[in-house]
Amino acid sequence: MGKEKVTSMFGSLVFNEDVMKQRLSATCYRAWKKCVEEGTPLSLETAHEMAAEMKNWAMDHGATHYTHWFQPMTGVTAEKHDSFITPEGAGRVLMLFSGKELVRGEPDASSFPSGGLRATFEARGYTAWDPTAFAFIKDGSLCIPTVFCSYGGQSLDKKAPLLRSMEELNRQALRVLRLFGDTGVKKVISQVGAEQEYFLIDKDVFNRREDLVLTGRTLFGAKPPKGQELEDHYFGTIKPRVAAYMQELDEELWKLGILAKTKHNEVAPAQHELAPIYNDVNTACDHNQLTMEIMKKVAGRHNMVCLLHEKPFAGVNGSGKHDNWSLSTDTGMNLFKPGSTPSQNARFLLFLAAFIKGVDEYQDLLRCSVANPGNDHRLGAQEAPPAIISVFLGDELTAIVDAIIHGTKYVDQRMKSISIGVDALPPVPQDTTDRNRTSPLAFTGNKFEFRMLGSSQSISGPNIALNTIMAEELSQFADALEGAADFNTALHELVQKTFTEHQRIIFNGNGYEDAWVKEAQKRGLSNLACTADALKTYLQPKHVSLFSKHGVFTKEELAARNEIHLENYCEVIGIEARTMIDMVKRSIFPAVCTFSGTIASSVAAKKAVLAELDCSDEEALLRKLNALSSEMMKQARALEGTLSAPKGEDAYEAAHYYRYTVFDIMCRLRTAVDELESITAGDAWPYPSYTELLFSVK
Ligand code: ADP
Ligand code: MG
Repeated sequence: MGKEKVTSMFGSLVFNEDVMKQRLSATCYRAWKKCVEEGTPLSLETAHEMAAEMKNWAMDHGATHYTHWFQPMTGVTAEKHDSFITPEGAGRVLMLFSGKELVRGEPDASSFPSGGLRATFEARGYTAWDPTAFAFIKDGSLCIPTVFCSYGGQSLDKKAPLLRSMEELNRQALRVLRLFGDTGVKKVISQVGAEQEYFLIDKDVFNRREDLVLTGRTLFGAKPPKGQELEDHYFGTIKPRVAAYMQELDEELWKLGILAKTKHNEVAPAQHELAPIYNDVNTACDHNQLTMEIMKKVAGRHNMVCLLHEKPFAGVNGSGKHDNWSLSTDTGMNLFKPGSTPSQNARFLLFLAAFIKGVDEYQDLLRCSVANPGNDHRLGAQEAPPAIISVFLGDELTAIVDAIIHGTKYVDQRMKSISIGVDALPPVPQDTTDRNRTSPLAFTGNKFEFRMLGSSQSISGPNIALNTIMAEELSQFADALEGAADFNTALHELVQKTFTEHQRIIFNGNGYEDAWVKEAQKRGLSNLACTADALKTYLQPKHVSLFSKHGVFTKEELAARNEIHLENYCEVIGIEARTMIDMVKRSIFPAVCTFSGTIASSVAAKKAVLAELDCSDEEALLRKLNALSSEMMKQARALEGTLSAPKGEDAYEAAHYYRYTVFDIMCRLRTAVDELESITAGDAWPYPSYTELLFSVK
């Protein structure tokens, strides 16, 4: 593909600023721009013109419908399409789209999870246009990014609170920048680049696995002779079928203005990664949702299935998402970039201190923000960061922090001690800071990489947490410094005090080692091993006051979210358990019976011809099949028993029960089944093997 084609393709399906400039009247364009930059409301007149031009543009691109595109608490996106047609009389129609329809929609979306925020009599939610995100065309419809709220104005989605957290972070960061005498910056924006991991497997093979079809992961599967041991897949040559997929995926994403940049094979066989160039977090979140959707869609066209589950296969690495997060100003400054002047350094250290303090104080909240049943299989399993939150700073920056804490000389060639606001920092080389792949939150030169996210989850929650935590710490710092007699002295003391009090959260070692678990415990860090444990901390008063103070979630909204997460956790494990039982009873047990029967008949037939023949191997196999099959059926019955038993008094007890009773038996059942698979003839086993699943795409 030529250069020409990519540049003209890029953003061709987006009603972006360029299109607006061309199509809208100067007044309308300016009103929109002011709305986005300064938050001024749009008049209905402007909305009318905007809507009409959006419609004309969309129709020029073949669209016949529009939809308010929103992000309910399911974690995936939702849409309800309406056509532009309006009857004109005499059996004719006009194609119309009004400002009112643009600004507000009523999807009657009463079936989305609301965590008790909506009584059925007021079940309707409404969607409201987010003018800061561009409309785009997908599947012949004009998609309008919207927030989704209840009639009472409570947020029922993942976009509204993200926007609120961005606003609040902006407000608090500006207060801090003003203290440094910066009056030029109008806006501070959190920037995010979300690296997305995924698996690609053949569709025909996928369709023969009930577990994959129903739950997105394999619930059984004996370990294949070859997994990821040779590390020959990671960054390896991309197979032709996958390359064709990736090419089409890039093109589809580019058309939607998504900055798809990097693609490569990941560690596990059949695993890949896509990384876009970073963007403001609202756009990054919209784009990541779209990316996940398009990944699946394009896979279908190539007779493949894209798996976004965190752990589709046992024994090989699962998939995560790295949330690269930084703060930048509208003037193009990155606030996490160590500077070259004393003032830039001081600013950097202040933002760094705020981050470190925030992560230490809100470990549980960050842990909760990445808690989902799929991610439970990865965190702490030596393939992803541990469930313990810590911050990796790298040796250079840690040495600087230590020097500040101890008031000692920072030992580099120049032997300088650091006085904040007076001295320049020794340079922090960017390339040496990204070596530690085991850290949950790694400083990588000018951003933090939050590496605990699950591949299937919306990046909204973790970024709401990061933004709000940062807003809180910056507001505390601003409060303290605004009244200071001598800014530099107060700043030095504040940064030194903060680093001293929160140094326990800094850890540069190997997060996969048991030694770290012990060390973390000594330091008093949280270790919330699973979602059921993590969510117990979600509604603690500290979290409620954090979010309500900054207007991100009310107590009710937070409680609703908690309820949705707990319910989802129990549902997911329940569905997995029922799927296992179904597979065992209707396919695996009958298959093992048939296979055992074949062996028994073969022994009988042999003996009938030559009674003295040694059939001890067959007999041993028969015994083993029988023993394992009994064990399997015993565990399946136990599992059925757990599902019909009472699950506890409340949602917390239910989640605990699903994790520590239901899930444990699922593991035992799986062990028996996987062992059975490994001794059953390949063509007698009812499901495609791991070898077929992981190696069939060429
Ligand atoms: P890796 O983590 O694989 O080493 P990079 O560091 O090059 O890769 O970038 C990973 C992601 O981080 C990309 O999506 C990139 O756009 C994003 N990124 C780079 N700089 C920033 C920044 N200042 N803020 C947020 N994201 C960034
Ligand atoms: Mg990365």
